[in-house]
Amino acid sequence: MGITKDAYLRELDQQAVAEELAVEWGILKRCPWHCDFTYQDDWDLERMYRIAAWRFKRGEIPGPFADQRELTDVLRAIVEDAPTECLRCEKMRNED
Ligand SMILES: [Zn+2]
Repeated sequence: MGITKDAYLRELDQQAVAEELAVEWGILKRCPWHCDFTYQDDWDLERMYRIAAWRFKRGEIPGPFADQRELTDVLRAIVEDAPTECLRCEKMRNED
């Protein structure tokens, strides 16, 4: 149980860091009106892998990533799962 919970927390931590990095690298956009919401725009997997590899090698990646592969796996999952626009904006528009 304890191990499962630790693994879960570690995963959440990785996801939070990966999301920040993706925003910093311009792969995810942060909604200008809803700072908790990010969405994917126009991105390129090759470019994301290149930046990740370079930054990882320079030791510039914070967070609990055991190796570069783990980092790119989490990044890829985050970006691919991201909505294509801010969910809050979309919801507000639908309520109009
Ligand atoms: Zn928004």
